[in-house]
Amino acid sequence: MNDCLFCKIAAGEIPSGKIYEDERFLAFLDIMPINPGHALLIPKNHSRNMLETDEATLRELMPLVAKLARAVMTVVGANGINIGINNEPAAGQVVFHTHIHIIPRFSGDGYRMWGGKEYEEGEEKALAEKIATEVETGLRTR
Ligand code: AMP
Ligand code: ZN
Repeated sequence: MNDCLFCKIAAGEIPSGKIYEDERFLAFLDIMPINPGHALLIPKNHSRNMLETDEATLRELMPLVAKLARAVMTVVGANGINIGINNEPAAGQVVFHTHIHIIPRFSGDGYRMWGGKEYEEGEEKALAEKIATEVETGLRTR
């Protein structure tokens, strides 16, 4: 993982605006913030993205996300906060080391959420059944 930017940040080889660190996790400010206070939380152990992160790490992440989110909101006086994880290029991932975006939001900051599409007749039900089956298979084989 010598070429991984966030591994280098985790190792202290590249400086960052650190806001939290323990043995397994590091959080620092995003260098190009959507709003000031925009932070990234990473497991120090390298994995490409959330889809390839072990379950124990995933379980530890969420309470930490909430803690950091509350601190960021308090300090920047945000009205809300978005938590985001981009997995793979099609979903906007550009740094391939698992990271969670903690993005403070302000009423009227001008950002919009994604728009929604409508399903064709019957498409939603058929898709839900297919995915439910796949989820069951995944749960059986993990
Ligand atoms: P993603 O699109 O989810 O892969 O997001 C990667 C994020 O990493 C972007 O929001 C970048 O602004 C941020 N980023 C890239 N390089 C650095 C860096 N050296 N320090 C802090 N954040 C960075
Ligand atoms: Zn890495």
